[in-house]
Amino acid sequence: VEHRTGSDVAWEPAPEQHFTGNVWFGELAPRPSPEAVRVLGVLFEPGARTDWHEHPEGQVLYVVGGAGRVQNASGETAEFSAGDVVYSAPGEAHWHGAAPGSYMMHLSLTTGAPTEWHPDKVTDEQYGSR
Ligand code: MN
Repeated sequence: VEHRTGSDVAWEPAPEQHFTGNVWFGELAPRPSPEAVRVLGVLFEPGARTDWHEHPEGQVLYVVGGAGRVQNASGETAEFSAGDVVYSAPGEAHWHGAAPGSYMMHLSLTTGAPTEWHPDKVTDEQYGSR
């Protein structure tokens, strides 16, 4: 058993080229093998969001705090808050981030190959559309 306090987690800025606004990553679990699940805590400041991207084996987001929004390639947008679960299917283009007036933290659970980032940022129009 390994217990770490919140301040023991090595929070790092998310890579700037794939995000709008300030976002932090914290690796929450060891990955003993490449097949192991990757458990990431992700904290977004208000208005911050990912670029468009997809996950080769899908992604589960578990919202720990705050409020956010997610959009898929069909333009369907959903607002979510603490306790909600968001699933993106393998290869489904999407983005996720905090609501304009709220910090938001979610857990990200993925397996397999790394995130495939699309070249396009999320425009203010896409971010604001409902
Ligand atoms: Mn994602």
